[in-house]
Amino acid sequence: MTAPRPRPEILSIAPYVGGESKIQGANRAIKLSSNEGAFGPPPGAQKAYRGIAAELHRYPEGSAAGLRQAIGTRFGLHPGRVVCGAGSDDLIARLCHAYGGHGTELIMTEHGFSMYRIAGLSAGCRVIETKERHLTADPEAILAAVSPATRLVFLANPNNPTGTMLTRDELERLRGGLPTEVLLVLDAAYAEYVTREDYEPGMRLVDAGENTVMTRTFSKMWGLGGLRVGWCYAPPAVVDVLHRVREPFNVSVAGQAAAIAALAEPGWWERSQAHNARYRAELSSCLRAAGIRVWPSEANFILADFGHPARANAADAYLRARGMIVRAVGGYGLPQCLRITIGTAEEVGLVCEALTDFMQESGKA
Ligand SMILES: *Cc1c(COP(=O)(O)O)cnc(C)c1O
Repeated sequence: MTAPRPRPEILSIAPYVGGESKIQGANRAIKLSSNEGAFGPPPGAQKAYRGIAAELHRYPEGSAAGLRQAIGTRFGLHPGRVVCGAGSDDLIARLCHAYGGHGTELIMTEHGFSMYRIAGLSAGCRVIETKERHLTADPEAILAAVSPATRLVFLANPNNPTGTMLTRDELERLRGGLPTEVLLVLDAAYAEYVTREDYEPGMRLVDAGENTVMTRTFSKMWGLGGLRVGWCYAPPAVVDVLHRVREPFNVSVAGQAAAIAALAEPGWWERSQAHNARYRAELSSCLRAAGIRVWPSEANFILADFGHPARANAADAYLRARGMIVRAVGGYGLPQCLRITIGTAEEVGLVCEALTDFMQESGKA
């Protein structure tokens, strides 16, 4: 008997590994492994979520018109150029299916976000990984990898799990060097956290042509990862394609209501950004003082580099023993590093203390 078989490339996909959330034997773990915002869901979003409970039998408005309107107002964008998805992962996958496929190539960077590889392989693309410099995307290496088969370039900016970013000028040079038929997807999942003046999430590049898309998410600073809401800003032709291939009711009633309320939460963005900038700097200096290398990050996490995989594993185990879960990033080719989400002031203090102790205990060995 022969069993049903998927397309062969499907079995070459390594399933996505998310941040863990439980420690065996501990009843309350501090979870700093998935870059969820430090403050939980915005209170207004929780209220809106409860408020639509009696409407859950209704199908959502398919194009998320109310949410697109709210996004347009908040970010100064035309709602007709915004498409919402079940998380930005959903939109990433749709773009791969629509623009990729057999015989095409997708370019990402060597420590780039792993969903690009999964979505690309699943669509049948050949996935090319380009070298980075100092754990930062290298536009020259990306341009050198372009072939006549290239259809998609994915860049997370800032990148997960490295936290590093390209400037507006570097992005513009990258776009300028790519063939016009190549779709550049700028994944700005952490844009809300960036404070640097020379940063551009992607709107300007989208507006400047027909071939750049910016994706965003409600899963990080807006605190709604559990509801799965993301969006993108795209040129009209790409918007048209996404509406053809997206699922008709891809964002739930609860997701739309909570996301609209999150955007309206007074002071949320400012407070989250200020907290993050302060505690990211504090945690970084604490770890550096303890003798750990910390890569510069523009996001709501830092990449702590222990120099050796065994040491990173030992630090991971040490944190776990104290009830803290961070993210091992061996799957990203960084087995010597741990990615640590910026949590509350208390959580940052606990991680700092634990890793300082770890270094003191292990350093002499
Ligand atoms: C978290 C994250 C996403 C967001 O995923 P959602 O599907 O919107 O939850 C996208 N890209 C990067 C780089 C991320 O880190």
